[in-house]
Amino acid sequence: MNPRTIVLVSPHGFCAGVERAVEVAETLLRVYPKPVYCLREIVHNTQIIRDLAGRGLIFVDAVADIPEGSTVLFSAHGVSPAVRAAAEARRLAAIDATCPFVTKVHTEVKRYAAQGYTIFLIGHRAHDEVIGVAGEAPDRVIVVETEAEARAATVPDSARVAVMSQTTLSVDETARVLAVLRERFPRLRTPAESDICYATRNRQQAVRETAHCVDHFIILGARNSSNSNRLVEVALAEGCAATLVTTPAEVSALPLTGVATLGLTAGASTPEYVVTDTIDRLKALGFERLELLEVVKEDLHFALPRELKRE
Ligand code: SF4
Repeated sequence: MNPRTIVLVSPHGFCAGVERAVEVAETLLRVYPKPVYCLREIVHNTQIIRDLAGRGLIFVDAVADIPEGSTVLFSAHGVSPAVRAAAEARRLAAIDATCPFVTKVHTEVKRYAAQGYTIFLIGHRAHDEVIGVAGEAPDRVIVVETEAEARAATVPDSARVAVMSQTTLSVDETARVLAVLRERFPRLRTPAESDICYATRNRQQAVRETAHCVDHFIILGARNSSNSNRLVEVALAEGCAATLVTTPAEVSALPLTGVATLGLTAGASTPEYVVTDTIDRLKALGFERLELLEVVKEDLHFALPRELKRE
């Protein structure tokens, strides 16, 4: 009998934006006087939040919760101009860990809004990234979550419409929503390159190409991690059983009897030690063999924000 196998699919885990955001937080904790505050989750991952909180980073939900004159860190998901203004009004020293891919979407929204366009923003309206981007031009941005919403949306001038998207969406679902908008608004302006970032696209491609070779896919990521949830959907759409797993201990409760080949990957904000701890747990459950499968090679890294570069 063949040994039960884990296929660890890459790319998995940290993307360039998360890597940078975590490094920014770690540098701040090392060199800035405490307390240092972080507005909302720096990235959507429970283990990272717990680790950074343990080292002294104070997470808050609103600028109003931060004492005047303190240091605040803006998360990888970005913030709206209203949040920046509120921070300034409290004389906060703001360090910005917004992912450059998210910043690019902010810039585009501002540009189109200044030209009088209505901007469709494909994304999840409760997600921090979408709240921040929409806040660039609240009167001009229409958030569209589904094809049905794209069919129902109305605009003041159908000749001046543009579309942007959240960076961590499903490539396939976004294409369907975009097709509806294109059909309804032939003069729709679209970004030269998709707003869905390289890390989201690569991880989805890796799962899509591997799903047919495994009996079950485990995706390691937080419940509120958009890109991790999309990976589960990609596997399911390929006809493969898939589960989002938030901690290594959870694998013991999964229905893996009869699974001979197990796919394993991790969302863009999952630390590598969660992956290795999960592999150890799975080995103890009888998955003796580990196979590494790299579908797409990644080598992107971002520089730290200017204020931290010499630290
Ligand atoms: S998932 Fe993409 S947009 Fe989000 S932090 Fe990573 S690289 Fe940036």
